[in-house]
Amino acid sequence: MSEKFFLRNQPAVEMRGIHLDLKGLPPSSARLLEILDLLHQARINCVLVEWEDTYPWKTYTVLRNETAYSLSTIKKFLARAEKLGIEIIPLVQSFGHLENVLSKRRFKYLREIPDNVSDICPLKKGSREIILDMIKDILLTHKNIKYFHVGGDEVWSLGSCDKCKKFVQNNGKAKLYLGHIEPILEFLNKNGIRPIIWDDMMRNWNITELKRIAKHTDLMCWSYSKDPFTFVKKETMEKYKKAGCRIWAASAFKGAEGAYVDVPNIESRTINMHQWVKYAREMKMEGVIATGWSRYNTFVSPCEGIEASLHTLALAGKIAWDGDIPEKASEWANAFLKHCQNQGIRTGHFQNCYQASEELQKNRDTAFFVFRNYLQQAHLAGEPERINPIRAKNARKAIFELLKKVKESAREWEKTHRGLVPNVWIKKYALSRVEPVKKMKELICKLKKQEK
Ligand SMILES: [Zn+2]
Repeated sequence: MSEKFFLRNQPAVEMRGIHLDLKGLPPSSARLLEILDLLHQARINCVLVEWEDTYPWKTYTVLRNETAYSLSTIKKFLARAEKLGIEIIPLVQSFGHLENVLSKRRFKYLREIPDNVSDICPLKKGSREIILDMIKDILLTHKNIKYFHVGGDEVWSLGSCDKCKKFVQNNGKAKLYLGHIEPILEFLNKNGIRPIIWDDMMRNWNITELKRIAKHTDLMCWSYSKDPFTFVKKETMEKYKKAGCRIWAASAFKGAEGAYVDVPNIESRTINMHQWVKYAREMKMEGVIATGWSRYNTFVSPCEGIEASLHTLALAGKIAWDGDIPEKASEWANAFLKHCQNQGIRTGHFQNCYQASEELQKNRDTAFFVFRNYLQQAHLAGEPERINPIRAKNARKAIFELLKKVKESAREWEKTHRGLVPNVWIKKYALSRVEPVKKMKELICKLKKQEK
């Protein structure tokens, strides 16, 4: 049993969640179920699941990716979660970050701005319907759920099309946002489900506007830095409370160190989680969810994967339960993962996955560094006489060697992830690491002629 790994008899926070962001590097079906067992051991009792293109969409099959889970996997996942006492909160985007929908030809007309694949126009006919259709599709499998997350964050182009612009001039942005989201929230309310929404679009709302949304939904305040309150102010959350909003906190166990990393930073992840847990207790928040972003947006390479982040994932559970960071966090995580492996939950690969990812990151970072220094040579910037051929030669040699190293570490990374993630996604991840360095090599070779 996992008793010896936890100090308290009662948890510091009642709802202790993990966010499974399944786009980009989705676990295989078998691994998806195992992750639930691991979360249960880490005393996580709530999972926010962002299925996105991995869900077997019924109404719009075009939204499925090539390895979308089968209906039977979804059912097994939900049944296993129920058995383990893990509350499942599905997430369907309703406003911004609708890239999976708006990038499809048939839904292009719903964009707020033709060039922006992220945001839906709230005033176009059909916008609300497609969101409701997706929610209904999820409800076909997710029976008896208490909460439903509707996303709603980072709608940067809100109020940009001609129709919306006019609406904002007359009524303000909050009303435009509410007009689209309120019927969606009401639909869930009518089905006895409490919605949750990211808070960032509401941070500047006044009390009256906040009171209006508080009736229908909980707010989830997200911030992933060591001091989360530099990004979302304590006064803002106090304002939410004053307006009668029920609030949740969102920290991050991975996907918060930068868009181009391969491993999370244990120090910043644990401090971020700890800060939120302390504040959640003080503010009597509904719960704390540690997010695990897979990519910063659809248009960039994936960031670190879950298998290289099992230590920070386990620590998120530990901190939410004990209310504190263990003295030797890394040792605690290693011992805990070893214990899970002894329980038959696959975690024995973690060290190898982590090391391969760290090596990959180190080699990539060095390649980017060397490449930048090479490009800043004066002879490439219009001063051909200011060339030191040996430096150019050395930079070229270094990139050639680094490309070899990146390829080797990407191969090692692939090996450590085999059987945990479908091969097609393993390949894509590795390519996203190797290709940029290949491009550097090509460009350096092309520029060689300027060294004469
Ligand atoms: Zn519009």
